Amino acid sequence: MAKTIVVTGSTSGIGYGIAKAFAEDGYNVAINSHEDTNENRKLAQDLASATGSKVIFVKADMSKADDCEALIKTAYQELGSVDILVNNAGIQHVAAIENFPPEKWNAIIAINLTSAFHTMRHTVPLMKKAGWGRIINIASAHGLRASPFKSAYIASKHGIVGMTKSVALELAREKITVNAICPGYVKTPLVEGQIPDQMKEHNMSREEVIEKVLLAKQPSKEFATVEEIAGTTQFLCSDAAAQITGTTISIDGGWTAQ
Ligand code: NAD
Repeated sequence: MAKTIVVTGSTSGIGYGIAKAFAEDGYNVAINSHEDTNENRKLAQDLASATGSKVIFVKADMSKADDCEALIKTAYQELGSVDILVNNAGIQHVAAIENFPPEKWNAIIAINLTSAFHTMRHTVPLMKKAGWGRIINIASAHGLRASPFKSAYIASKHGIVGMTKSVALELAREKITVNAICPGYVKTPLVEGQIPDQMKEHNMSREEVIEKVLLAKQPSKEFATVEEIAGTTQFLCSDAAAQITGTTISIDGGWTAQ
């Protein structure tokens, strides 16, 4: 029977890249977003037709505890198991601390951090019963290092790195590994979306923001790619990675070596 992967926030960017890679490898895939649009449903249908794998779209808002539970339950009921969980849903807001809207703080902590707590607590019993599991949390270089104007995002990503280590220790004897991938900048809608805010905060042009802000700390001076993040996720789910748990894997062009 094909294994099942659930990827939160997977209708675009890194999450979709991971969903696509696993559908191509023959896994059952649950794609998720908080937006129940025809476009998102079609995305799942198209991926199923292109790969021959079972791909479903599950509408669930990762800022809500009940929706996190419903995502895991729906995937289990419709696809038969939850073998791999990728906590990927994430949002960003860039502002100085004194201008940072409290509702943005709450949304970032809920979606980037608390959702992973809820999806993990509902998935781990299923993985324990199955005797195997892989949990991959998409953190960030900002889970290991800080930058200004991103207090909520940095807090959420440092938080998920800590939670990854704690849960990995709890599950170390269960054949369930828990790791975090820490990408540097990857060109996705999330990064595109922060360029205008960064232009405002730094009083710079678009090109200056890319060179002097986004890639300033990335020594390779290149964006990481969605395919690289997906490939690392595939590796963490392979037999070769059975003893890799409770750690972070950086894909950041050397950023955190500094
Ligand atoms: P993206 O904006 O392209 O995709 C985010 C996805 O999350 C979308 O599918 C969106 O629908 C979904 N989403 C947003 N709010 C949601 C909610 N409430 N419930 C369910 N789904 C929701 O972003 P991305 O760049 O692909 O980022 C994916 C993850 O990778 C995030 O956790 C992000 O912090 C992390 N990351 C990204 C970069 C980067 O440079 N792009 C770098 C490091 C880490």
